[in-house]
Order: sequence, then C-alpha cells, then structure tokens
Amino acid sequence: MPDIEFEREAAPDYGGAVEVARAVWRVTARNPGPFTFHGTNSYLVGEGSFAIVDPGPDSPEHVAALLRAAGNRKVTHILVTHTHLDHTGATGQLVEATGAVTVGAGPHRPARPLHTGEANPLDASADMHFTPQLTIADGDVVAGDGWAVEAIATPGHTANHLAFALNRHDLIFSGDHVMGWSTTIVAPPDGAMADYMRSLDRLLARSEEHYLPGHGGPIVAARAYVRALRNHRRMREAAILARLAAGDRSVTMLVDAIYRDTPRALQGAAGLSVLAHLEDLVARGSVATEGPPRLEGTYRLA
Ligand SMILES: [Zn+2]
Repeated sequence: MPDIEFEREAAPDYGGAVEVARAVWRVTARNPGPFTFHGTNSYLVGEGSFAIVDPGPDSPEHVAALLRAAGNRKVTHILVTHTHLDHTGATGQLVEATGAVTVGAGPHRPARPLHTGEANPLDASADMHFTPQLTIADGDVVAGDGWAVEAIATPGHTANHLAFALNRHDLIFSGDHVMGWSTTIVAPPDGAMADYMRSLDRLLARSEEHYLPGHGGPIVAARAYVRALRNHRRMREAAILARLAAGDRSVTMLVDAIYRDTPRALQGAAGLSVLAHLEDLVARGSVATEGPPRLEGTYRLA
C-alpha cells in the first residue's frame, strides 16, 4: 500500500520550453533513466534577463534548447541546486555561450569523511570539477533584472544541496530534495538521513505551496506532500527497527525484507538508503554496530 501519492506526468516535449509558472520556463533534457525520470529539468527564470536554475547534463542538444528558449534575452546567472553531473554537466558550454556567472553552495563534498577502506559508490554521478564563481549559503539572496531568489540550504541528497525560493512568487525550485515522481536518494557518504529530515522540516517551516523539482512535473499542495515524504521515511525507519528486532542483521537482509518489490536496478540504491537510516539510528543510539556503520556491517538493536 503506497503511503505517498506520486505524480508521474507524461514524457515532455524534449527541446521545447514550457511555461510552468509566471516568468518561469522549463526545458527538460533527454537523459531519462531510473534515477532521472524523463530527464533533468532546467528552468529559465525572469521577466528581464534570465537566471537558469540547473544547466542540466553535458548535452549539446540540451544547451541548444536552453539558448533557443532564452532567445535575445541575456542569461546573467546560472544557479546550481547540487553538484551531480545530470545537473551541472552543461555548465561549461552554457557559460561559454552566455558569459553568465555560476552560483552554488561550493564544490561537491561528501556529508562525512570516507571510512578507511570505503569507496564512494556514487563517485560516477558527482561533478568533481564544478566550483561556483559565486558561493552562497542559506538565506543569501541573488537578484538580476526582473527576478530575485533566496537560497535555502537543504542538505541530505548531497551536502551542498540548495533549494531556491523565487521572491514574490509562491514558488520553490526544490532540486532533487523534493520531487513529485519519486522520493530522493539519500545515500552515504554524499547524503545523510538526519540532514535530509531536517531539510524537509526547513521547507515545512516556510509558506510556499508550489515546487518545481529537478525531475518530473510541478508539485502543488507541496507542504502536505513534504509531510508525506517525512512520514514515509519514518515508516521506513520503523520497518528497519522491526526487522532488526525480528533478527535481521545485515543491510542485505533488510533490503530483501523491506524492498521486496523494488526492481533489480534500484537494489543498490535501496541498500544505500538503508545504510543512511542505520547511520542515523546508530548516531541516535537506537542501533549498535562494530565501528562506523558500513554496507557490510552487522547490526542489532542497542
Ligand atoms: Zn538529479
């Protein structure tokens, strides 16, 4: 029984610009997949000049579509929600074409240092070359001709994840933190469950009810949806605790029991998600393990 109502709209018209809010256009890149849904959304924002929220993947076709959508209007800023390649890969080509300044919360960084002998399973998706020209933090406002956005620090999916609230609109660009088509991936060491839960609470403390995510369609009644996401993770946490009480000891056993209907392609991500919960539960003293929580570790109730 699903505890969240996902919204999975039809495939977009790749290459076209869709006006999804007043003075906001969406261009979806053709990089569909199990983690990207129909592809990565880039947004053009503004009534005068443009800011682009997330350049998208390294794709000449996508860059051409963004430049076509911008037309004769200047692109002055490129805002980055987080440093995964499906969001930042096109940065170099876009900067070259527009001269825009890049803005984000700094280069890619894990949520915690790697343990001895641990390999980062997500290295392939991180953009280790991106450094924003303008580094911003929570509460900073970036403005151009006809637009202004406020940065909201939303770590969890990545440590440097930002959402952007569009001033004088009831609207947040939520990146991969909150998406309507699926829950986000919270996978150590890049992601952290405690950060993610706090970042959901950050959004709930605000009044915006419309979100435009990094993948999939617009989210309406966003605060109720964020509450459902929070409940979903709490239910997952309760399921993990129940399975540990029943005798499960490893991440593999927990995934087999809890993610029974998950396709093979997503089992690795499921394991990392369970690890993210275990890290949080160990930090809170509810679960015990030898040394730092690891994928191959043995777990029990504390
Ligand atoms: Zn993404």
